[in-house]
Amino acid sequence: MLNINKNFLKLKENYLFSDIAKKVKEYSKENPDKKIIKLGIGDVTLPLTKSTIEALNKAVIDMSKTETFKGYGPEQGYDFLRDSISKYYNKFGVKLDTNEIFIGDGAKSDISNITDLFDKRNIVLVPDPVYPVYVDTNIINGRKIKYIDSTSKNDFLPMPNKKQKCDIIYLCSPNNPTGSVYNKKQLEEWVEYALINKAIILYDSAYHSYISQKGLPRSIYEVKNAEKCAIEFCSLSKSAGFTGLRLGYTIVPNKLIFKDINLNKLWFRRQSTKFNGVSYVVQKAAEVVFTKKGQNECKAMIEYYMNNAEIITEVLKSKNIEYTGGINSPYIWLKCPNSMKSWEFFDYLLHEANIVGTPGSGFGKNGEGYFRLTGFNSEENTKEAAQRLNNIL
Ligand code: PLP
Repeated sequence: MLNINKNFLKLKENYLFSDIAKKVKEYSKENPDKKIIKLGIGDVTLPLTKSTIEALNKAVIDMSKTETFKGYGPEQGYDFLRDSISKYYNKFGVKLDTNEIFIGDGAKSDISNITDLFDKRNIVLVPDPVYPVYVDTNIINGRKIKYIDSTSKNDFLPMPNKKQKCDIIYLCSPNNPTGSVYNKKQLEEWVEYALINKAIILYDSAYHSYISQKGLPRSIYEVKNAEKCAIEFCSLSKSAGFTGLRLGYTIVPNKLIFKDINLNKLWFRRQSTKFNGVSYVVQKAAEVVFTKKGQNECKAMIEYYMNNAEIITEVLKSKNIEYTGGINSPYIWLKCPNSMKSWEFFDYLLHEANIVGTPGSGFGKNGEGYFRLTGFNSEENTKEAAQRLNNIL
């Protein structure tokens, strides 16, 4: 008889977003005249940029003609896109060979799939609170997870404990949900720790385009020797509005060698076996994102969301509410006022201001008493929400 992977049964039911939806639905039913504003959104809301749409249209035409039609492409992505990404990294001093860049259908898949390369016995280190995919993937694989506290005491930027042993380390900067960002010195410490432990850092930089302050690293490879101990995951979802189009990329340096095994070759083998590549049309759209024009358009999009984030943080500041994020990240992580618990504050905001956010407790035990808001709604709605927050906080 078939045996199933019972690790799936160990996963916590993900009640967070369904519970939020249920509560909002009930409230709307009882109060049909109220306008609810969603500030919990973790998805982009602006349409794709002009040049992305033009590139998509052009690529569709390519597919309509025998001479330019494309069937299966290279599993690891077309060179035109990998070269554009390599040049983009050059701008912040990171040199990448084209073969170190693997195009995928989004960061979420690659962050999960990468664990195919690692033995079950490895010990995994995960910050708490965290983007839930890191935890769930390792539970499914049956790995042991150790948590490191990410709290206001360390500005939500946990640092390595030299006495603690581990093999796989997850870092996310700018962070979802806390909006905090590691500086170069802090990343140097993590790289040093990983090298000493012969561990790997899985570095999620999905929000690196939101970094506005000078001197903060946009890639872990800005740190010396990171290419010997880190894999970086990135995505066009939040930087170019590709959440619905789907494209991400993973950087696996050639220098990543553990026990004489080259991880770049292993990941290439894994992708060639289990993945047939991202569509030509989407890769053509992604290519223009890395042009000067494309970058300017994306910058304007990001500025729009960051302006919304600022509208929210201005209110929090005026009310002396503790928060992180909102400067180099679209996420704002605030301490619930009057020692309220995360869900208590959720209900308070929903009922008193008709605003929906995300309870911090849904991201880990250290998220209790915290709340996540985002800049992803429209400017008009964000301004109205800020007014309402100002009235009730
Ligand atoms: N990493 C983080 C920290 C995220 O917040 C998200 C999406 O919200 C992802 C990765 C996944 O991005 P993608 O849409 O590329 O799968």
